[in-house]
Amino acid sequence: MDLFYKSTRDSKVRVTASQAILKGLSEEGGLFVPETIPSLDVSLRKLAGMTYQETAYAVMRRFLTDFTKAELQECIAKAYDSKFDLPQIAPLVKAEGAYYLELFHGATIAFKDMALSILPHLMTASAKKNQVKEEIVILTATSGDTGKAALAGFADVPGTRIIVFYPKDGVSSIQEKQMVTQKGDNTFVVGIRGNFDDAQSGVKAIFGDAAFKEELAGKGFRFSSANSINIGRLVPQIVYYVYAYARLLGDGEIAENEPINVVVPTGNFGNILAAYYAKQMGLPIRKLICASNDNKVLYDFFRTGCYDRNREFLLTTSPSMDILISSNLERLIYQTADQDDETDRRLMKELAKNGRYEITPAMEARLGDFYGGYADQKEAAAAIRELYEAVGYVIDTHTAVASCVYGKYKKETGDTTKTVIASTASPFKFTGSVMDAMGEALEGMDDFQLADRLSRLSGMQVPKAVEELRGARVLHDTVVNVDEMKQTVRAFLGTGN
Ligand SMILES: *Cc1c(COP(=O)(O)O)cnc(C)c1O
Repeated sequence: MDLFYKSTRDSKVRVTASQAILKGLSEEGGLFVPETIPSLDVSLRKLAGMTYQETAYAVMRRFLTDFTKAELQECIAKAYDSKFDLPQIAPLVKAEGAYYLELFHGATIAFKDMALSILPHLMTASAKKNQVKEEIVILTATSGDTGKAALAGFADVPGTRIIVFYPKDGVSSIQEKQMVTQKGDNTFVVGIRGNFDDAQSGVKAIFGDAAFKEELAGKGFRFSSANSINIGRLVPQIVYYVYAYARLLGDGEIAENEPINVVVPTGNFGNILAAYYAKQMGLPIRKLICASNDNKVLYDFFRTGCYDRNREFLLTTSPSMDILISSNLERLIYQTADQDDETDRRLMKELAKNGRYEITPAMEARLGDFYGGYADQKEAAAAIRELYEAVGYVIDTHTAVASCVYGKYKKETGDTTKTVIASTASPFKFTGSVMDAMGEALEGMDDFQLADRLSRLSGMQVPKAVEELRGARVLHDTVVNVDEMKQTVRAFLGTGN
């Protein structure tokens, strides 16, 4: 049976999976959600014997029903190959009573690779399927990791171009280096004078600009999004939660149907929403623990039912979580509103107008699967140091937020359920902060000296993604104001006027 997707802001909009992937965002600003969440139709026991690629097929085929078996398997094979430095793709590491699900073994050493290595293939397959003639222009705002992962995924993919906007002073130096050295004639990287939310709002405004869309269509271009609002990003992220559970079962760490908890360091709410969908598919997950950094909008939301972005935006050592508008939360809001588009529209309007909204007690009652926690920068640093000193395992600053929140959760609840922590970046991506936390950063060391030292201390090889940056040439140096974003797009596409 075919699964259709509808918009959170207009239930009358109903599209296929491939159409939802092409559009990214619905025209009226809504996010596409599956009409129902399909269930897993393979037993957990059977999944326990599958490779990552086989698991990906078993999960994704349930959501992307208008893809043929051959199409989907081809996309999976192209995505999860030797770009990843381990054949397991997403290995589990047991340390100090938790299982760290390492999602950083892809091209850009952060978890965004898990979805962005397959999105370009899903998108070009979708374009073919829908007889799209225009060139696809990927427009993306990034808090650091999405940008590079999307650039790496789309670079030189025929029929596509990609434009990435990042907050000029809001990403780590390795992240910035990774982006501005990106090769590929179809890539364009732009720093903006503003924070991530400014970049994201700017991109959303361009997507919502009907006149601009028409103007570019006339020139043979069509926008799409690689941001985590695209269901082509969300669906591949469900896979690794299923895979992690199956591995624990296969390795005898858990019994069949034994529930686990999942802790996710959260920013835009995409990763944890994928875990929620995995649970809805029938994966035995008990609690979804949403870990925030000092920008703890989500923690406050889960505690009070009020989402309020009216607060100071803080730059932290976990920049990919420095977000005050978690776009994917809208999908959960819609779900808790019983898929009522009118409620969703009203709340999102309030968010746009006043920067806040409050959900009803009935909606709040449906959030029982979630637990919100947060860790400030000091606590996250302590989590890195403690784990390193205890077992020699080094985690990055984002994973550290999750690790710390998990500690707080256990203390508060006494819950001893086995727990998977999503490890979202390699410590080599945030070397400065990680080494600071370990008390090992030395005055005057550059990123590469720090990486070499971290390698010696941790026994981990410096990843290829970092090695490649040594001596790489800067190819992108455009910096613009937020109100110049649209004009910048025109200029890159050669349609300036
Ligand atoms: C993007 C990112 C996050 C946040 O994930 P969301 O899906 O946006 O919640 C956490 N950690 C790292 C390293 C990331 O790159």
